Amino acid sequence: MKKRIFIYFIILTIIGISITGFFISQLAQKYYKFEAQDKLVGMAKLIQNQIASDLRNGLPVDYNQYAAQYSRILSSNSSGDLDRNSTKIRLTFIDVSGKVVGESDTNFEHMENHLDRKEFQQALTESVGTDIHYSKTLKTNFLYTAVLVPSANVVVRVSSPLLQLKTIDQTIWNYTIVGVLAGILLTSILAAKFSVYVTQPIDQRFNDMNLELEKTVADLKDKNVKVDAIINSMGNGIIAVDNKFNVMLINAKACEIFGIKNGPGVIGINLIELVRNHKINHVLNETMRTNTSHTEELTLASPSEKILKVYTSPIKSKDNISLNSGGVLIINDITNLKKLELIRTEFVSNVTHELKTPLTSIRGFIETLRNGAMEDSVVAKKFLDIIDIEAERLYILINDILQLSEIESRQQDSNIATHNLHSIVEETISILQGVADRKHVSLDWEVQDGLKIVANKDRIKQMLINLIDNGIKYNVENGSVSIRAFKADKMIVFSIKDTGIGIPDEHISRIFERFYRVDKGRSRNMGGTGLGLSIVKHIVNLYNGDIKVHSQPGKGTEFTIRLPA
Ligand code: ADP
Repeated sequence: MKKRIFIYFIILTIIGISITGFFISQLAQKYYKFEAQDKLVGMAKLIQNQIASDLRNGLPVDYNQYAAQYSRILSSNSSGDLDRNSTKIRLTFIDVSGKVVGESDTNFEHMENHLDRKEFQQALTESVGTDIHYSKTLKTNFLYTAVLVPSANVVVRVSSPLLQLKTIDQTIWNYTIVGVLAGILLTSILAAKFSVYVTQPIDQRFNDMNLELEKTVADLKDKNVKVDAIINSMGNGIIAVDNKFNVMLINAKACEIFGIKNGPGVIGINLIELVRNHKINHVLNETMRTNTSHTEELTLASPSEKILKVYTSPIKSKDNISLNSGGVLIINDITNLKKLELIRTEFVSNVTHELKTPLTSIRGFIETLRNGAMEDSVVAKKFLDIIDIEAERLYILINDILQLSEIESRQQDSNIATHNLHSIVEETISILQGVADRKHVSLDWEVQDGLKIVANKDRIKQMLINLIDNGIKYNVENGSVSIRAFKADKMIVFSIKDTGIGIPDEHISRIFERFYRVDKGRSRNMGGTGLGLSIVKHIVNLYNGDIKVHSQPGKGTEFTIRLPA
């Protein structure tokens, strides 16, 4: 910038001074020529007068002699005016036919006819003529002036070299060069100052703009990073596509849902090809076509089976009228929600069924009693016993349901205290000993000395009752149930092992589900509700423990529970 301004200044200066130099030179030359011409005409007129006077006085006129004589006089006369060193005045006399009749510098007899000379012709017609010729021999311009002497029919021609012309020209151009050099020097100084003066505010503005731009870019980057972080930490999948369905934006959750490995790498790829789901295709098409939002529930087969809720909305164009510029999909993975919903509806229908069975039985027996069975006291007593058993079953069932929902609703257990595990197991065994005896199943138990547990005592007892009770219920004649409690790796370990019927492999993963029974008839006959293991599992979860089953059909089952000590 500065350099350019500087160069422009210099060029302008050179051009300006050169043009001025040129015109001054032209003007000076013109002035000099006028001066010289005036002088020569004056000389010619002087000679003209002299000739005219000589002729009048009847004196003889020898033009050649005149030429030599006046040339000598005028040459010395003119020195100092035209050129101090070498101004030579040459005189020529030419008669009206163009013939040279006298000459100061050469032998006039050898000279050619001068009829065609411009100054001569002009003198004949206008009485005074001038011209400038270039002399090759003297390598300079010559000024010729011619004056007619009418009384003698002769033209006096006075000529002189225009030596000064070259000198004037040279001098002016020398001054011009000096002027240019001085101009360049002055311009350099001025340009240096001026360019700083001009460029400084511009530089300043550029610097300010640069800073502002940098700040804006940094702000934008920062905003981008924030938006990226927000979008990628969202629990819902987000995909934005253009109106050709090419992906413009995709967040981490969407990649996870659709099993897309290289998230940023799919930008620009067609979404339909990427996810290959006709429902997504359909809902997006509808959204774009109608320019309205849509919701669709769909199942995804791969990478894993999922149920998704997809909300789509068009990206409205700026003017809100023309074609939309794309669409946004918000994908909610509702697989777990759907599972819970299913479990809840299943639970409700199971509870209804479980409650209905004993109630139907109770109402049936009451009806039979009303219809006359009351009269037979033996039958009536038998029926009342059955009604009692069914009512008891109902009571147990409702109790189990209440327990389950109470444990489920808790994040942490209440009534937590430090208890001696030995006494808890002892109390549990005393409750179940009678049942075991009736079934001819022996119970043996062992608790590590001094083992303590920090927990709600009733909850631990409930857990052990359910497991030992199952060990008795699903056992064989003269079978046994062994209960062990000990500490290992900072965990309290319970092992309840029976010699019973065992559980076939295919059922093991489901026995903790509510109301799930391997053998429905046997469970019911034993007074089972199908909720026992479900309650156990929930208690274990409440204490952040884990439960494992190891079973061999026909040989027995072992449940191992580990709770953090
Ligand atoms: P239930 O009230 O029917 O006993 P549970 O939830 O306690 O319900 O158990 C679920 C099912 O698991 C039982 O119906 C039974 O088929 C099976 N089961 C539980 N414990 C044992 C065991 N120790 N031996 C064999 N089968 C068992």
